[in-house]
Amino acid sequence: MATIALANLHKRFGDFVAVRNTNLTVGAGRFVVLLGPSGCGKTTTLRMIAGLELPSAGRILIDGEDVTALRARERDIAFVFQMFALYPHMTVRDNIAFPLRNEHVPRHEIASRVGAAARMLRIEGILDRKTGGLSGGDRQRVALGRAIVRQPKAFLMDEPLGTLDADFRELMCLELRKLHNALAATTVYVTHDQSEAMAMADDIVVMNEGEVLQAASPHEIYHYPATVFVGNFIGSPPMNFLPVDGAVAAGQEQVLLHGAPVPVPRCGQAAGRVLLGIRPEHLALDERGPLRGRVVADEYLGSHQVLMIETALGMVRARVGKDAGLAAGAPVGLSLRRERALLYDQSSGRLLPGATQAGGGHG
Ligand code: ATP
Repeated sequence: MATIALANLHKRFGDFVAVRNTNLTVGAGRFVVLLGPSGCGKTTTLRMIAGLELPSAGRILIDGEDVTALRARERDIAFVFQMFALYPHMTVRDNIAFPLRNEHVPRHEIASRVGAAARMLRIEGILDRKTGGLSGGDRQRVALGRAIVRQPKAFLMDEPLGTLDADFRELMCLELRKLHNALAATTVYVTHDQSEAMAMADDIVVMNEGEVLQAASPHEIYHYPATVFVGNFIGSPPMNFLPVDGAVAAGQEQVLLHGAPVPVPRCGQAAGRVLLGIRPEHLALDERGPLRGRVVADEYLGSHQVLMIETALGMVRARVGKDAGLAAGAPVGLSLRRERALLYDQSSGRLLPGATQAGGGHG
């Protein structure tokens, strides 16, 4: 188990900044997921940790030791890619043993480590098969086996489930998490899929345009998104953001939405315009509610439905019971769960510090 620390890590490709002054600590034994849209710098960050890409500035520390200038093979870290290159003409056993043979590990030690990894991954029955004919899931298990036998200080995984179909991905997510619990090895995992991140991570690091916007537990990221971008990116459907009338003073307990008073948790002073953020499930149908609008579409999802409601403040999504019985065109009123309302500075997109916010900014 190792602690990985990134200190002011920065990466430029020519004039383009792919990773911007990143500070992040991955605690020993944690499963940390780098999450963000395509091109946000996840893979570049991972490749710098692995030693496959040199940072333009900043440092990488593993267990306190500065490894920034060390080559990949000197860092004792295993990397699992989406397209893991297995040797198709070799058996599963030989594929898994390959890195150990390279390091001249004694034969009995190789046999015992391969056996232990195969048991953990439940691939003992296919150890003597060639990898060429295996299913995607089995190939992924073999790739993981090859990483596990090295007993590295940490695992880095770049969209390792990317090629699998949706059902199988879900299963592999659970397996990966179980495997992590068994190995307790520090893992940094890259994905652009929020459900994968929510299902597996101890901590999620949300990135955009080379910057870390928030690093926190899935619960905190979901309930207290640090920025408007995070609130939009996490959650399906995303958080609603509604413009507040006028200025907001420190300690204020209500704001005006299109002239209607709405109670909110106390928060700090805002310098300029403010947005109120609220998740669709924290809106409730309420004839006397302060938000008024008209249903324009509904998405029936079996256990509940999501209504798209046109209001004077823009389109609002509300998650309501499956029996709400509202068709397109129906007028509705909505009330907001006070303790779930969050206020954001409109120009910076940042959450205003408030009494109920756990922790605070990271990264
Ligand atoms: P994806 O999920 O699409 O892989 P990502 O978040 O992993 O996205 P990166 O692969 O880290 O993104 O790339 C970040 C940005 O840096 C992208 O705009 C990419 O085009 C650019 N980039 C990455 N590698 C290079 C390179 N070797 N030369 C020039 N630009 C690069």
